[in-house]
Amino acid sequence: MGSFINVSISCDCGHVEEWSSQPMMNNMPVGNLIIAGAIMFYGCSPVKALNFMNHASIATISARTYHYMQTAYIVPSINSVWQLHQQLYIDTIKEEGRSLKLGGDARCCSPGHTANMGLTVNKVKNSICNGIGGFEERTSVP
Ligand SMILES: [Zn+2]
Repeated sequence: MGSFINVSISCDCGHVEEWSSQPMMNNMPVGNLIIAGAIMFYGCSPVKALNFMNHASIATISARTYHYMQTAYIVPSINSVWQLHQQLYIDTIKEEGRSLKLGGDARCCSPGHTANMGLTVNKVKNSICNGIGGFEERTSVP
């Protein structure tokens, strides 16, 4: 099971001891999630990282498990934390009665097409701070 090792020891008089290399969470070794998260947050290639561990005989997860962890846990967690922090910033600005200016690079990529670069400046006044949907000002540079 990836990086998980469980050892069961028994003796002739009937004593049984169990040892696990790491805790489980909902039948999933926590170390497997930590490895997948570390690979993603460090930004290295999962193939290279997992190949390195295999060559060093370090028990690790498969590439398939890495991609499952990424899709099922890591990316949803990143999105959740991002939205939480974004909402906290907006709530704080609303409470303080300030206006909000948002900016982004407006990079629009689609498969087979060169990125369309531009500049987006978004001003959201305090009264419409309930959502970040309305672009008041937009300048695009093709
Ligand atoms: Zn014994």
